[in-house]
Amino acid sequence: MNINLIGGGIAGLMLAYKAASAGHQVTLYEANHIASGASGKALGVLVPVTGLNRPIDILQRQGIAAWPALAQQLAAETNTPLASFWRDWGNGNQQLNITTIFDILAQAIRAKGGTIVENHPITNLAEIRQNTDHTILTAGYGTKALTGTPVTISAGIAARFTGHIENLIAQDNLFLCPDFTENEVLAGSVNWSLKEPHTGPIPEDKRDELLRRVYAIAPHLQLKEIWLGNRPAQTPRTPLITSPEPTLHIVTALSKIGMGLAPALELPF
Ligand SMILES: Cc1cc2nc3c(=O)[nH]c(=O)nc-3n(C[C@H](O)[C@H](O)[C@H](O)COP(=O)(O)OP(=O)(O)OC[C@H]3O[C@@H](n4cnc5c(N)ncnc54)[C@H](O)[C@@H]3O)c2cc1C
Repeated sequence: MNINLIGGGIAGLMLAYKAASAGHQVTLYEANHIASGASGKALGVLVPVTGLNRPIDILQRQGIAAWPALAQQLAAETNTPLASFWRDWGNGNQQLNITTIFDILAQAIRAKGGTIVENHPITNLAEIRQNTDHTILTAGYGTKALTGTPVTISAGIAARFTGHIENLIAQDNLFLCPDFTENEVLAGSVNWSLKEPHTGPIPEDKRDELLRRVYAIAPHLQLKEIWLGNRPAQTPRTPLITSPEPTLHIVTALSKIGMGLAPALELPF
């Protein structure tokens, strides 16, 4: 079948990879460049954040459980050393190299005959659905403009530091992990809910909150860069996975845990 996807974040890339692996003819359209939305702002920690049994928590646990085999498969298919983009910290905690994982997925999709079209914002959904069997909307917050679906935002802050820590630290919704360069550390995140994406400078109180918590654990780190990301979410917090029409599917609102959850996303046809 011919499958179109709209949005090249982790949701779109993962589903494009699954569709191409299943033998479908895949075209993914991305408004800017791949991972230019929330995905490119993530830390890449794959840590089950709650022991709860809400749908989102169950999906995250399934996704994290699937990452080791998936990472091995991607390493083999793209001829990339596994340790350069995935590692296991024990106790079910894993980490992805956020600077390379999206390119690896894109490479694997292309190797299976898929096409990724960047700098191609979709404005006319009806047009893109012509001559295709299924369209999957993985446009994150952009899904709202295309369909009217009420996607909200969970804003988050992450930072990169110079310095070293030995292990991944996950403490009361604060995450610190050595970067794959070994002399840098990533940390995040402060979270707050918004109706629309935050643009402009990072609010000072949110920035201070993250830095205060990081320095309380690792005072030797030196701030290198700090950024804000607008994660697509839904209130109440649950992924938005729905098919408003038999050939139109929406997969978004992965909130704070999309990187971990993604392998559990299934093709909706
Ligand atoms: C600071 C921070 C830290 C995080 N850390 C982690 C973490 O450690 N682990 C974890 O599991 N998760 C983490 N997350 C959450 C994770 O990043 C998100 O859950 C995930 O990226 C959501 O992916 P997505 O593909 O649904 O959305 P997005 O990544 O936002 O992708 C949507 C894409 O659609 C494109 N688009 C929009 N409109 C259109 C259009 N009309 N036409 C074409 N393309 C369009 C956008 O350009 C964008 O690239 C973090 C997020 C932030 C902000």
